[in-house]
Amino acid sequence: MKQKDAFHPASSAQTRIIKKMGDVLRHGHLAHAYAITGPEGSGKEALAVNLARLFLCEAPEMRDIPRPCGVCRPCIKTGRNLHPDFFMIRPDASTIKMNQIRRLQQEVSLAPLEADRRVAIIINAHKMNQEAANALLKTLEEPPSHNHLIITASCADELLPTLVSRCQIIRCEPVPQSELMEFAEKRLACTGEAARFLSCLAEGSPAKAEMLLEQGALETKKELFGLFTKKGTEAVPASFRLCKKFSGDMNATLIAIQTLRSITRDLRLILEMKRRWPDRTNAVTSSIINQDGLKILCRLADAITDDKLAEYSRFLDHAEWMLERNVNQGLVLEAALVFWIRKNNNPFSDG
Ligand SMILES: [Zn+2]
Repeated sequence: MKQKDAFHPASSAQTRIIKKMGDVLRHGHLAHAYAITGPEGSGKEALAVNLARLFLCEAPEMRDIPRPCGVCRPCIKTGRNLHPDFFMIRPDASTIKMNQIRRLQQEVSLAPLEADRRVAIIINAHKMNQEAANALLKTLEEPPSHNHLIITASCADELLPTLVSRCQIIRCEPVPQSELMEFAEKRLACTGEAARFLSCLAEGSPAKAEMLLEQGALETKKELFGLFTKKGTEAVPASFRLCKKFSGDMNATLIAIQTLRSITRDLRLILEMKRRWPDRTNAVTSSIINQDGLKILCRLADAITDDKLAEYSRFLDHAEWMLERNVNQGLVLEAALVFWIRKNNNPFSDG
């Protein structure tokens, strides 16, 4: 049976990188070490794993976009993380420690067991402590033959310069929003409106767009917009129900906070456009994230000021900060929703 094909370059920029690496592989000129750098969510880890699978595949398909065949034994094994010549480490808690690098050194000191080469990956190598970084540097100074190291880091400047100088750098940029939208429409089978929303929240990361969809971001958005249009007497119990539902679910609460942020951003945009072009009410629509909620947004914008929204934005920053420190999710969301239930911020609460 063909393994589920997880090999999809995340963007046109990544496709170019894979094509280039395919050429390098074809000519047998693989470097000992690659450093993939780029901001959070730019797909560094997926690229590192995809390259490792490509390097280990027995019969990679090299036409168009090079890709592992997906059916040979090495492909099946790397897919299940069972290949003896594939080794990956990532930060244990927040750092990569000496004993992890020692294990990696033991692995790479041997000749590959099954493949022609071994590939080791270090995810977030900028989280190595000093001792671990120095130990890794020793390995790179005398690279064992047939071993290839791929490290990822948010920025080359965060790594030891001597370590960087021994790696070929591959820069991984965040995926542009237009490509993310296309990704959501084609690969995640989203409608245009849903794709726009996910691509705006995903911060340049296809993996995050997929995660948002799986974790119900579209339903969360619908529930929040539903809450805005409720009268005061209905809004309070409805918001409690929502908080109760999200309580204990960190990811769902973070998604709700991000959705509230997208709504706040839309409202600020509407207010700005109204100030600049008071007669052109339609000029604003193309940049709105939540276009399907435009009518509700316009009514909310009529009832609110820029200062209040700026203050609310700061509150949302603080809410994320609290969530990262494990403050009760239900309480954080409740505090975030109270703002919209207040009569003077909600034009729907009258009548
Ligand atoms: Zn294969």
